[in-house]
Formats: sequence, structure tokens, C-alpha cells
Amino acid sequence: MPETICPLCHGTGWVLEESGSGTVAKRCKCFHKRKNEILFDQVKIPRRYRECTFKNFETHNDSHRDALKIAKKFVKNYPVQDIGLLFLGPCGVGKTHLAVAIIHELIQKKRIPCYFCDFRDLIRNIQNTYTPDSSFTESDVLAPVFQKDVLVLDELGAKRTTAWVEETVFYIINNRYSNKKLTIFTSNYPDNEEEEEDTREPFFKKGSETLIDRIGIRLRSRLYEMCKIVEMWGKDYRKEIKQAGYRF
Ligand SMILES: [Zn+2]
Repeated sequence: MPETICPLCHGTGWVLEESGSGTVAKRCKCFHKRKNEILFDQVKIPRRYRECTFKNFETHNDSHRDALKIAKKFVKNYPVQDIGLLFLGPCGVGKTHLAVAIIHELIQKKRIPCYFCDFRDLIRNIQNTYTPDSSFTESDVLAPVFQKDVLVLDELGAKRTTAWVEETVFYIINNRYSNKKLTIFTSNYPDNEEEEEDTREPFFKKGSETLIDRIGIRLRSRLYEMCKIVEMWGKDYRKEIKQAGYRF
């Protein structure tokens, strides 16, 4: 698509405005818009999540309403708060939606450099750098993961933990933590340690595999230090909406 030239500034990025003391040059609207687009492109959000915003987030129950409130508060307080978020819940309840919506808002309102990373892709990409013909080095893959102010690490635990994976992920997360960079996690794995009677929603009760099984106890306790835990529950709304759309 050919780039159209902004009619306000004729492509210079500057506009002249009258003020009390005479004419002043100001940045044109298109300059900020372009800057936001570049920031957004650098995030690398998967196509199916690109349009996720607070506005189109559906609240079907209290856990959704609470999670939305917390997500909005995160944006409002940024960068004053010093902890990230961990959205926990089953598939299709909107965890990734909210994480991406936060990125949208942080870019639009505060121009914060963010990065989106799928846990499995991250591990795979790091492993690929060890193959002899790889054109990327480990630091190519890890640079944005370390450097961006806010990182979304999606589907934590979606790949089985090996000592190597655990070590690598701990290193990444710990590095961000020490550099006071915030991370937003999502995970499908229930997290539980309590020995007393568990009265929570079925998903959060002791199941076959937990977050500890998937990421190890050391990383899990680090997560608790660096994140507010946001539990979400409900049906798989993605699946339900899709099924409702299939007519026979
Ligand atoms: Zn312009």
C-alpha cells in the first residue's frame, strides 16, 4: 500500500501553531501515530490476538470483571507499581486477551516498549540457535526479552520442564526482575499448594498437573514475589462462540 502523505504537515512531522508568544513548531499528530505503530509492530503479537483490547473484552462472570479491573489499574499505575501480573485459568477465558489489551494501552497512552512472547516459541527459538546452521544467536533471540520494558510471556508451562528449560526461564525472569522490568504471564496450569480443604473453582483444585510440575518450585516462588496472581475461570468462550457459529 503506498504511504499517503499527511495533509497536516505534508510529511515533515511538524506543524506550526500560534501561541501567545508567536508561532511555535509542534509535533504533528501523525508523528505520534507513526511512532505508536512502530512500537506496536515491534511487540510481535500473533495475528489472532492483535485486535484484543479492553473494549472488546467480554465479561461473563466476576473473575472476568475483577481481572479487567486489575489490568486497567496496571496500565494506570505503570510505571509506579513494581510487580507484574500472572493470569491463571483454563483455556479460552481471556487471559491472553487481557495481556495484549494491556500492551495496546501502554503503547497508546504511555508509549512503553513492550514485547509478546509465546513460551513454547521462546524455548524453541533458543534451542534453534544451538543448531550449527542457525542464523540467529541466543542473544538475538533474547535481546527483546531482556530489554523491553514490559514483557508478556504467554502460556507459561506449556512446554514440559527440563533442567535446561527451567534454568533458562529462571535466568530470563530473574534478570528482568533484578532490572525492575515488569512481566505479565499467562498460564493454563492450576497453581496450588494449600493443604487445607480446597473450596475454589474446580480448575484451581488439585489436578493431575500443576504449575509447579511444569515450571519447578524455584521459578514458581519467584513468580509469587514478582507478580500479582489473577485467577480467571469460566467456560472456553472461544470454543463456544465458534461452535455457535457452525450452523447445520
Ligand atoms: Zn502530519
